Amino acid sequence: MTLTIQESLDRLTEGNRRFLGARGPTSGRPFCERMAEEGQQPFAIILGCSDSRTPVEILFDQGFGDLFVVRIAGNIVAPSIVGSIEFAASQFGSQLVVVMGHTRCGAVSATVDAIRTGRHPESSNLKAITDRIAPHVRSLTEVVDGETLMRAAMRANVRASVDHLRHGSRVLEDLLLAGKLAVVGAEYELETGQVSFLDT
Ligand SMILES: [Zn+2]
Repeated sequence: MTLTIQESLDRLTEGNRRFLGARGPTSGRPFCERMAEEGQQPFAIILGCSDSRTPVEILFDQGFGDLFVVRIAGNIVAPSIVGSIEFAASQFGSQLVVVMGHTRCGAVSATVDAIRTGRHPESSNLKAITDRIAPHVRSLTEVVDGETLMRAAMRANVRASVDHLRHGSRVLEDLLLAGKLAVVGAEYELETGQVSFLDT
């Protein structure tokens, strides 16, 4: 059964609440072999950061087949990321896409450092990540500092990825216009384990 956008958001919110209430052990969901034949029907698509402290299924207390997860440093949007999300949204009927940033993100802080010092990562592959984040945080580095800057930069980067997914794909845009898809931002606090949705 396909969940609506609101039902999907509620299920994620409730899952994170369960996780917060029972932090420590994972949910211990058993391996589910019948899924091999039934196919998948994930109720949400999550674009998150690769940071080892942000394990998506665990922090939303979800199990096998529940979430279609794409993780990449800095939760940036590149063509193959859009393609993965288009695939899930069109094939599985998932109606909710969440772009989830997090506090103390190394990709965001590396980008801020590069802007401030003018010294970019030596690896062109790493630079490809910071280059995608930089345009969205550059102006912030001129007006705020410290923890305020890092939080604002993380949110700006999440919003940029949300915008890119909403408007950078014909497939996703058609689903959005038909009311069959929502793309929302979220932030995960490493300090508390809490996920908050932005602008919902
Ligand atoms: Zn990160």
